[in-house]
Amino acid sequence: MRIKRVLVSGGAGFIGSHLCARLLKEGYYVICLDNFFTGSRENIKKLIGNKNFELIEHDIIYPFWKDVDEIYNLACPASPIHYQYDSIKTMMTAILGTFHMLNIAKNTGAKMLQASTSEVYGDPLSHPQKEEDWGNVNPIGCRSCYDEGKRCGETLCMDFNRQYNVDVKIIRIFNTYGPNMCENDGRVVSNFIVQALKGKDLTIYGDGSQTRSFQYVDDLIEGMLRMMATERGFTGPVNIGNPGEFSMLELAEMVIRKTKSSSKIIYKPLPQDDPKQRKPDITLAKAKLEWEPKIDLEEGLDYVIDYFRKELQN
Ligand code: NAD
Ligand code: UDP
Repeated sequence: MRIKRVLVSGGAGFIGSHLCARLLKEGYYVICLDNFFTGSRENIKKLIGNKNFELIEHDIIYPFWKDVDEIYNLACPASPIHYQYDSIKTMMTAILGTFHMLNIAKNTGAKMLQASTSEVYGDPLSHPQKEEDWGNVNPIGCRSCYDEGKRCGETLCMDFNRQYNVDVKIIRIFNTYGPNMCENDGRVVSNFIVQALKGKDLTIYGDGSQTRSFQYVDDLIEGMLRMMATERGFTGPVNIGNPGEFSMLELAEMVIRKTKSSSKIIYKPLPQDDPKQRKPDITLAKAKLEWEPKIDLEEGLDYVIDYFRKELQN
C-alpha cells in the first residue's frame, strides 16, 4: 500500500516538531518545510535520519511544489516578539504563504489543515469565545500583521474551498505550551518558567488580571489529527484549546510555587491591544471531533518546567 505523504509547513517550530513526530509514529511519510526563522534543527534532530522524514529548507512566501495527500500549514512566527520583528514579512507569510500551500492542495487534491488562532477574536466581545464570534480586531495596530494575516488566511482557505472545492480544515488554536518552545520568544509560559528557574523577577505585563487558557501541546496535536480526519466538506473553523482560564497573576504564582523559586513578581507596561480575556468554547470540537483536552495546567507545567530545567543545564 502507498504510504500517505504529508507536508508540514513550519515543521521545525514548536508545534510543528511535535506534529511531525506524531505523524511519523502514525506511519506517514512527512515532508517538513521550514525557513528556520523561529524553528530549529534541534527541535527535529530525533527525526532526521528517519527514512520517512524529509527536511526541506524553503520560505513559503515563494511558490513550492510537492505531490502530497495532506498539508498542515503552520509556517508563521507566533509569538509577539517574533511576529513583530518584521511585521510585513509576517503578513506575507500568513497570506502569500497560505496561498502557496492552498495552490498545492488545489493542484494535488490534498486536504489542507490551516493553523489559525484565537487571535482572530482579537479583544473578544463574547466570553467564552465561540466560532461564530467574528472578532474585535484592531486592523492598524502592532499585533495586526499577525491577527489580520491569520484572518485573511482563513478567508483564503474558505475561498479556495468555494471556488476550487479544496478540502480545507480550519482550527483556531488557543495559547499552547510544551517542550520545544523557544526559551526567548517572550511568550508568557516560557518567560515565567525561565525567569523562575534563573531566580530572576517574573515580569507581569499590566496588573496581571488579563486571562488566557493554556493547552498542553499533546492535546493540540491530537485535535489536529482528528480535524484532518473529518469528512470532506467539513471546513470548521473549530476552536482547539483548554477551557481552563487563568489570570497572568495566577500563572506567575503557580510557576513560582512549582519551581520552588525565590523569584519575586514585578509589573511592566501592558503591550498595545493585549486581549483582556481568552477562553475557548469547545462544544463543537467535543461534538464533531470527540476531542477534549486531557492535560490540565498543573500537570502540563510540570512537564515544561522539567524540559526547561534540562535545557538550562545544557
Ligand atoms: P513557531 O514560531 O515555533 O513555529 C513557526 C514555524 O514556522 C517555525 O519553524 C518558523 O521557522 C517557520 N516559519 C516562519 N515563517 C516561515 C516562512 N515564511 N516560510 C517557512 N517557514 C516559516 O510557532 P508555533 O507556536 O509552533 O506556531 C505554529 C503555528 O501555530 C503558527 O501558524 C501559529 O500561528 C499557530 N498558533 C500557535 C499558537 C501557540 O500558542 N503556540 C496559538 C495559535 C496559533
Ligand atoms: N505576558 C506577561 N509577561 C510576560 C509575557 C507575557 O504578563 O513576560 C502577558 C501578555 O501581556 C499577555 C499574556 O501574558 O497578556 C499572554 O502572552 P503571550 O505572548 O504568551 O500570548 P498572547 O498575548 O499572544 O495570547
